[in-house]
Amino acid sequence: MERFQFHNPTKLIFGKDQLPALKEEVPRYGRKVLLVYGGGSIKRSGLYDRVMALLQEIGAEVTELSGVEPNPRLSTVHRGVELCKSKGIELVLAVGGGSVLDCSKAIAVGAKYDGDMWDFAERKAAPQAALPLGTVLTMAATGSEMNGSSVISNEATQEKLGWGSKLAYPAFSILEPENTVTLPKDQTVYGMVDIMSHVFEHYFHKETNTPVQDGFCETILRTVIETAPKLIADLENTEHRATILYCGTMALNGVLNMGLSGDWATHNIEHAVSAVYDIPHGGGLAILFPNWMKHVMHHDLARFKRLAINVFDVDPAGKSDQAIAEEGIDRLRAFWNSIGAPSRLADYSIDDSKLELMADKAVRFGPFGNFARLEKQDVLEIYKRSL
Ligand code: NAP
Ligand code: FE
Repeated sequence: MERFQFHNPTKLIFGKDQLPALKEEVPRYGRKVLLVYGGGSIKRSGLYDRVMALLQEIGAEVTELSGVEPNPRLSTVHRGVELCKSKGIELVLAVGGGSVLDCSKAIAVGAKYDGDMWDFAERKAAPQAALPLGTVLTMAATGSEMNGSSVISNEATQEKLGWGSKLAYPAFSILEPENTVTLPKDQTVYGMVDIMSHVFEHYFHKETNTPVQDGFCETILRTVIETAPKLIADLENTEHRATILYCGTMALNGVLNMGLSGDWATHNIEHAVSAVYDIPHGGGLAILFPNWMKHVMHHDLARFKRLAINVFDVDPAGKSDQAIAEEGIDRLRAFWNSIGAPSRLADYSIDDSKLELMADKAVRFGPFGNFARLEKQDVLEIYKRSL
């Protein structure tokens, strides 16, 4: 286990009827609120009205930024930054999924910066200050509600880059499982794939003596695998929604990776695909992750064997390590297929015409991946396996 410090400043407010906590939390930061949301799901579900009623009760002055896209765009970040600067915003309040939260993080740091927020994504500068951010999460997926990461798409350059800062952690996040029941089946599936993928990114590390971290990872993976079919069959079940919502937060709030660095190559490879084709993040991960696994499993067969046995119940009797590892990966693919996730780039009508372009984007900052270092050629091979 590596040395580590753990500090997660986000106050997590979880469970039924927790939304009124807004009345306590918002006034801590000010009266002038930028309410950020997406394409309208919060209006259809009634959440928008509930939030507005609570903000009115405390006399907040609300400015709205709506229409945040899935795979949020830099131009939308710019609109939010301008509103913050012109209206003297004191708190950014994100109500929506990971895209709304990520966009709001970028707005919060951009509002306190004289240059373009994209400088942070390109690693040309690091944020020195940020507006406080509160969130009301409406879908389980990214963990953005309790981390300092954000992913923004620059539509002008067709790039999708992740960035992060200690200053981008939400000050508070309100998670009512009830707010996630309107999420359609396809997005529910993408969210669960993303959650499992975050766990995989941690699980494939090179540290030794990490029995607790590995066990936590396996528990979350097993829980998603057990809960997913029940949730898919009963999308309004708030107990299953709560289980998945909690898994999503725990998968990427820093708890699983205390003392280890994880891999993160597959997220990078996926971002290059959604930068060019604007596909859902979870859909891209479902296609790519098993193919990344097959490409790198020789780096540490024992770890893949452990995953196969502990998470996918592969019976090891009479089988080689290689066969056990491969069966585990095949079971992951079969599980994702069974809940309706895509399995080939062709499912999004993606052919081989832009593989070079995507691979160049993936290696933009050089070779990557901590468990297995990938060069452009590796990325191309993983894309080819995924066609
Ligand atoms: P999302 O892009 O925020 O939302 C996907 C769709 O679901 C939107 O059309 C949204 O509609 C709809 N939706 C959300 N909640 C809903 C609800 N309760 N009922 C009905 N519809 C609802 O999805 P996401 O997977 O959470 O976020 C994906 C983004 O996060 C990607 O850009 C990905 O790269 C990034 N990401 C970030 C992190 C991180 O740590 N920050 C980690 C992984 C991925 P509306 O727009 O109408 O609300
Ligand atoms: Fe993700």
